[in-house]
Amino acid sequence: MYLAGVMHIKHLLSLISVSCVSLLGAKEPLLVYSHRHYESDTALFDQFTKETGIPVEVVKAKANALIERLKAEGDKTKADIFITADAGRLGLAADMGLLEAVKSPVLEQRIPAQYRDPKGFWYGFTLRARVLVVSPERVQESSLDYEDLVKPEWKGRVLSRSSSNIYSQSLMASMIAAHGAEDARAWAEGLKNNFARPPQGNDRDQIRAVAAGLADVAVVNTYYVGLLHDSPEKRDTDAVSKVKIIFPNQDNRGSHVNVSGGGVVKGSPQKEDAIKLLEFLASEEAQKSFPNGSREFPVVPGTPLPELQASWGDFKSDDLPLSKLGELNAEAVKLMNEAGWQ
Ligand code: FE
Repeated sequence: MYLAGVMHIKHLLSLISVSCVSLLGAKEPLLVYSHRHYESDTALFDQFTKETGIPVEVVKAKANALIERLKAEGDKTKADIFITADAGRLGLAADMGLLEAVKSPVLEQRIPAQYRDPKGFWYGFTLRARVLVVSPERVQESSLDYEDLVKPEWKGRVLSRSSSNIYSQSLMASMIAAHGAEDARAWAEGLKNNFARPPQGNDRDQIRAVAAGLADVAVVNTYYVGLLHDSPEKRDTDAVSKVKIIFPNQDNRGSHVNVSGGGVVKGSPQKEDAIKLLEFLASEEAQKSFPNGSREFPVVPGTPLPELQASWGDFKSDDLPLSKLGELNAEAVKLMNEAGWQ
């Protein structure tokens, strides 16, 4: 009896000392749910750990799977940060109550206002433009607008991915913001009527199809041109050599841009450290590093570009606050359906 009591107390003491070590010593890892899959992101997380002593653990999956997981975990989640592409999707995650609004003078000072949520639910870290990729052999125009693609001369020459894709939805949201619902619906219908084939495949497939002569122009995100350029496969580098980028709407509102970004998960067990990681992602070091792997652009103005992105030239981007893309997402989906854009 006495012995058992001693054992019990000893066991208790050892438990207490273990929890003291974890309180005072090594930190619990920050848990990041990320849709991104770039080695340069991993290198950045390692660098953050080196500089702060805060380990980072990453769960990678498709955005919708991560959103479902966060929903299922609710306030029992161990996740601290959610990272994904597209402000429209980040806005939807915030609307579902999965993110927590955080304020940070560093983030507010570094990231331009249009590339972050005004309430602090999410912050953009990398930028991409939704551009036109054309065949220089079959397309003589050196400047084009999204609005041009519905003209009769483009009949059967246009490619885009489906309306179920968030990039299509966010572009449509930007058309609603620019022209109003009625005109945006008419544009979506005109675009659909000019498609070379029913929407299929991802952005890379649209670029390959233009290169293969199946169409003359495709609507794609800039970094896919860069990723095909970097690809070890010859069919990809060949495809890129047969197309060129036109940044649309340069004489008016500018090309539609979007971000990859992240926010603090609601119920994050380590909110302060989570904010530190977000601030690190906006640092000069991280901003310089991101575009090397992902072929996106930095969001922080004045960050030097890798040679490839610089070779695409300067462009004017639409200064629509990206929080609008989430706000207009449901309407965009409805109008695209009405227009018959599959
Ligand atoms: Fe993408």
